[in-house]
Amino acid sequence: MCTFGAVHMAGIYIHIPFCSKACHYCNFHFSTSLHRKNEFVEALLRELDLLQFPGEQPIDRQADTIYFGGGTPSLLNQQELETILEKINQRFSVSANAELTLEANPDDLKPDKIRELVSMGINRLSIGVQSCRCTGCRHHQP
Ligand code: SF4
Repeated sequence: MCTFGAVHMAGIYIHIPFCSKACHYCNFHFSTSLHRKNEFVEALLRELDLLQFPGEQPIDRQADTIYFGGGTPSLLNQQELETILEKINQRFSVSANAELTLEANPDDLKPDKIRELVSMGINRLSIGVQSCRCTGCRHHQP
């Protein structure tokens, strides 16, 4: 028996393995070559189509979170993100107030980009450690 009452959360994680440059401290899987980004998005959409679920329902409970991690998912353009989100919504039952997170490089977060993300339902950003650059210290300046 679940001791936490009716808490049965489900989440969807999508890994976007591209970065604009390699950070020296990083051990994640990524590529700095974007020339296969389109191919990757098409393969991801096909993979979502190929998922097999037992029974009629895609999953037995609603997804409460969708998380785009990487890599740097903020490198995807609006059309790519919208197409992936549309496919996820076709293939899964997603809660109306799901938390939609996108990992972002602060350099990508121009006002237009933020407006795009908000318009497609992204309601949480996970900002990279690049945002912690200190401007007040004379040590280790590039
Ligand atoms: S942006 Fe993030 S995932 Fe990409 S190399 Fe830097 S730390 Fe790693």
